[in-house]
Amino acid sequence: MNMPSQPHGRGLHVAIVGGGASGTLTAAQLLRQPAAPGFGVRVTMIDQHGRHGLGAAYSTDHESHLLNAMAGQMSAYPDDPDHLIRWANCSGRRFLPAIPAVVTDTTFLPRPAYGLYLQDVLSEAERLTHPVDRVTAEAVAIRRQGDGPAVRVVLAHGHVDADVAVLATGNAPASLPFDAPPSDRVIADPWQPGALDRLLTSPRPRSVVVAGTGLTMVDLAVAIAAASPETVVHAVSRHGLLPRTHPGTMPPADQPLWLPVVFRTTEPVSLVELMWQIRSAIAARPANWHYVMAALRPLVPGLWRRMPDRDKRLFLRHLARYWEIHRHLVPPQTASCVTALRMAGRLIVHTGHVRAATETAGQLRVAVEADGDALHLPADWLVNSTGTTSDITASASPLLRDLFRGGVARPDPLRLGIDASIRGEVLDAAGAASDVLYTLGPPLRGLWYETTAIPEIREQAAALAWLITAGRSQRNRRPGSAA
Ligand SMILES: Cc1cc2nc3c(=O)[nH]c(=O)nc-3n(C[C@H](O)[C@H](O)[C@H](O)COP(=O)(O)OP(=O)(O)OC[C@H]3O[C@@H](n4cnc5c(N)ncnc54)[C@H](O)[C@@H]3O)c2cc1C
Repeated sequence: MNMPSQPHGRGLHVAIVGGGASGTLTAAQLLRQPAAPGFGVRVTMIDQHGRHGLGAAYSTDHESHLLNAMAGQMSAYPDDPDHLIRWANCSGRRFLPAIPAVVTDTTFLPRPAYGLYLQDVLSEAERLTHPVDRVTAEAVAIRRQGDGPAVRVVLAHGHVDADVAVLATGNAPASLPFDAPPSDRVIADPWQPGALDRLLTSPRPRSVVVAGTGLTMVDLAVAIAAASPETVVHAVSRHGLLPRTHPGTMPPADQPLWLPVVFRTTEPVSLVELMWQIRSAIAARPANWHYVMAALRPLVPGLWRRMPDRDKRLFLRHLARYWEIHRHLVPPQTASCVTALRMAGRLIVHTGHVRAATETAGQLRVAVEADGDALHLPADWLVNSTGTTSDITASASPLLRDLFRGGVARPDPLRLGIDASIRGEVLDAAGAASDVLYTLGPPLRGLWYETTAIPEIREQAAALAWLITAGRSQRNRRPGSAA
């Protein structure tokens, strides 16, 4: 068991559960906080898969998997928007030769390059301060303690005691939304480490059925096409909607988006009214709908907070799928690849539901209901790409189950994630904000809705690091106070 070393002298020990972008940016920000004299911050980062600095999104080694945002939008630091571009141009190619010779704010970098960048961001912060303890283990519970360090993060084997814990656990793992046999040819969560290895190295699969037509399906189709030129991918989703193409340019700064609903800050936001205002904004500049979406994005958390739960539910049921395909875009290069695959008949999109799969002698048969008709697709592999579980209380994560069962945390009213204050303090079953347990990123989906991408995560990480350290280091500064 990989246990961290003990604290050195006075200071604050922060245990971060999750080694993805949220955990990594929080750790880097914690190390960068100006400390009171003699008051150091020590960080332990716990990741069940040992993906410290990478997480689910950036642990791919496929260089054809590109970021879906441009380099100018993906800096680790909100106060230094060119940080990634400088890194990529100065030292990036030392890490990954596939990084283009000249990276500008409109370059779509390979996702493996971004993982290397995040790891280097953390290493740089460590070089300037002290190392982070990296623990590879699953956290299964978090307990508040009476004496000594305030929290105990219980691991599958062992524990880590700390003054503060941060849940940077990302999206809850995906589970199969249809019946399927317990077969190693049925992949429930393609983002589990190594989940796709056998598929991508298996000799010439003829047919792969993918449930879902979003970004994960696109990733899969691109990787399968590169690995096996004869494979046909059948992608199935209720509406057969694919992510739209990124324009590949930065939004013009001189076209502000003015929506009346944004400025009436004391009133609840009506979904119907909001939709009409967005439609009017897009109708006024139909060729530039991308820019309307880009301008809307930073407004979403504020609008979502002011929307009644009833309207939020309506949005999730009827509109979210349209929001997602216009909000999470594919880079132009990836879109060209998808078009070529569709024209060559190597990617076929079906409108319908995957109902069930059966397996006979290593051959899967996938039952699809399409417009009332039953379709049976023979498949060598079936991959679930329908995304994270839509109800966090149904998650199989032992940690989440324990937190909810023990009342240490509670789901948000829509069950999209963990309930928290606007500062990221986790709310317990009675709604009280914790002073030792925090969260950021995807678990805050119920609170902010737009909270899963780097521009939101980096802001939250910076604010959280300040919140965690500021109050405590102030206490430490008081004359005569003990650490
Ligand atoms: C394929 C893909 C591509 C994306 N591309 C982009 C992009 O181009 N631009 C962008 O801005 N955003 C992108 N995103 C959004 C992405 O969600 C965020 O950028 C970010 O990576 C989320 O990081 P995270 O740390 O919150 O979650 P994750 O990356 O999921 O990391 C969470 C980590 O916590 C670990 N963990 C969970 N539970 C436990 C536990 N109980 N014990 C120990 N460890 C645990 C997991 O193993 C995981 O490593 C993409 C997402 C995906 C999935």
